[in-house]
Amino acid sequence: MAFNLKKSATAFAEAKRHIPGGVNSPVRSFRGVGGTPPFIAKAAGSRIYDIDGNSYIDYVGSWGPMILGHAHPEVVSEIQDAVTRGTSYGAPTLLETELARMITEVMPSMKLVRFVNSGTEATMSALRLARAYTNRNKIVKFVGCYHGHHDSLLVKAGSGAATFGVPDSPGVPPAIAGNTITVNYNDEQALAEAFAQNGQEIAAVIIEPVAGNMGLVLPKEGYLEKVRAITEEYGALLIFDEVMCGFRVAYGGAQEVYNITPDLTCLGKVIGGGLPVAAYGGRRDIMEMVAPAGPVYQAGTLSGNPLAMTAGLATLRILAHTPDFYEKVIAVTTALCAGLKEQAEAYGFNYQFHQAGTMFGIFFNDKPVYDYDSAKLSDIGAFNTFFHAMLEQGVYLAPSQFEAAFMSAAHTQADIEATIAASRKAFAKVAEY
Ligand code: PMP
Repeated sequence: MAFNLKKSATAFAEAKRHIPGGVNSPVRSFRGVGGTPPFIAKAAGSRIYDIDGNSYIDYVGSWGPMILGHAHPEVVSEIQDAVTRGTSYGAPTLLETELARMITEVMPSMKLVRFVNSGTEATMSALRLARAYTNRNKIVKFVGCYHGHHDSLLVKAGSGAATFGVPDSPGVPPAIAGNTITVNYNDEQALAEAFAQNGQEIAAVIIEPVAGNMGLVLPKEGYLEKVRAITEEYGALLIFDEVMCGFRVAYGGAQEVYNITPDLTCLGKVIGGGLPVAAYGGRRDIMEMVAPAGPVYQAGTLSGNPLAMTAGLATLRILAHTPDFYEKVIAVTTALCAGLKEQAEAYGFNYQFHQAGTMFGIFFNDKPVYDYDSAKLSDIGAFNTFFHAMLEQGVYLAPSQFEAAFMSAAHTQADIEATIAASRKAFAKVAEY
């Protein structure tokens, strides 16, 4: 039967009666690309299945966490085991120490780690801490980077905020937004000017060291070094938001790949194995200011939740113990990108293909993309045409030009070939559009 989303359309209409826009996170609504979002019934390995009976090769991976693929048998069995011991205690467990220990080993810049429930909480808490530590109020963020939806960082934000054209949300008090200085990604001069004007007031610079929320944008050679140097010069902290790129661009994250030591790091996604976990951590002298070790308050009823810690631990153990895990998944990612590029070029499209480890992205743009302004020059209509043509052929990509794609260890050679074959038809449609 021809591809259809009839049941999903009914479910979406019903969801809209009870949930704003029918979804619990905006990009899921497909508002950017139009049409009906498939309502998902289940997922396994590289595939997700909707309630209409369609199956898709999934390159969203829950927006990054599912690096092992969906419902990995070991992760599932450990969660099943854990759930029989109770779902939440609100008291310390061995699991939290073990996951923190693993993370500090992988990312030596993180001497102490505090677990929270979402990336938003991680960056919010890291900023509070940076402000307390430096006794300064201003922060610098980069246009098109997304760090979650709290007030200080919902300023010129990427991801859904960019897709829907609301990078600055109503409801953020001007007094708070006024403490956030925004600078173009990869722009050395702009950063230097921000420090020249406000240097003594800047508590921290927060950056996605590999940016995945305006599409996938890589730091220019030497840029992160410059960011590190200028923060040191002015006594501001450097916060790496590796919620998305941590355990994705490499096991040790972007800080390992680019050999930069940030003062604080935010993690999320992969470290929770698909359950709600995020973390912030960093220099001991800074992290010891967090309550109850120090005065900077931050807490959470479900923080360090035993099911979530179990899923994270199971995931990181597999990443750590599978020989050549990253080499293999990265090689598959590279092969897919090469195949897609070849198909695009066959139709005369000179699009930008970016890859960072197991993350990748295509800009429907024939000029280099290195910041939000250059990303915005992409042909959104061409992207949307491609997106729907892929979806109809059973390939699930993020429903926005301003999002990255994610490979998993469960993607097979057959998946890659099927995706490339589907892209041939999808690029043909783009050529007609
Ligand atoms: N930081 C980055 C780099 C992210 O990509 C995201 C979410 N995509 C967040 C923070 C916010 O995380 P969460 O959605 O878990 O609040």
